[in-house]
Amino acid sequence: MVNVAADRLSQARRALLADISVEIKDTRVVEAIARLPREEFVPEEVRQSAYENMPLPIGYGQTISQPLIVAMMTEALLLNGSEKVLEIGTGSGYQTALLSKLANHVVSVERIPALAERAAAVLSRLGYSNVEVHSGGDGLGWPQAAPYGAIIVTAAAPEVPRELLDQLGSGGRLAIPVGSRDLQELVRIVKTPEGALRHNLGPCRFVPLLGRSAWPGHSGD
Ligand code: SAH
Repeated sequence: MVNVAADRLSQARRALLADISVEIKDTRVVEAIARLPREEFVPEEVRQSAYENMPLPIGYGQTISQPLIVAMMTEALLLNGSEKVLEIGTGSGYQTALLSKLANHVVSVERIPALAERAAAVLSRLGYSNVEVHSGGDGLGWPQAAPYGAIIVTAAAPEVPRELLDQLGSGGRLAIPVGSRDLQELVRIVKTPEGALRHNLGPCRFVPLLGRSAWPGHSGD
């Protein structure tokens, strides 16, 4: 019984990796994903679906993002391994784990304390030591550790938040879904001395960024 389930999971894992490597050109990202056990980051009830290329519920109305989108967003950051990265929206901690393999240090902020605690526990159990997870306060991001070489926002914003551009170092990259509540564009902003350069990388759909920089009527709880 257990072996059948494990076989099915590793078969799904190989199939997912094959799909991701068609779309993602950065081999460092693909190799890092290949070593990530996504089943460790999802609740027991959805463990058998851990390698489906889809978002899955992680409780508190939130989701672990679709693996291909995680890969696309990570590729969009153009990481060289030396960066301190800020992640907004720790959620399950899966994206955090991927960043930990591809950057020097990861600061991750999550507004739901129970999710932050759970993700921090999983990351620590699996030995990801170059990450710190914080429960978000009033402001957006984590200015105390700025500037960052890269910032990733795994929740959708109506526009690129000024507060995050301020926390980005010169030459830094910001990847963020920007658009309406139902559909967004994945955007990469590069901060240059001449200003912020914007690249549109394709459509995506994320749960909303809450608190500051949210849509009217969704200013958090
Ligand atoms: N990368 C995560 C995505 C989780 S969904 C994963 O794949 O597991 C997005 C997360 O962003 C949710 O957990 C939500 O609570 C969190 N979030 C939303 N607004 C936020 C904010 N202003 N600051 C920090 N986290 C926020």
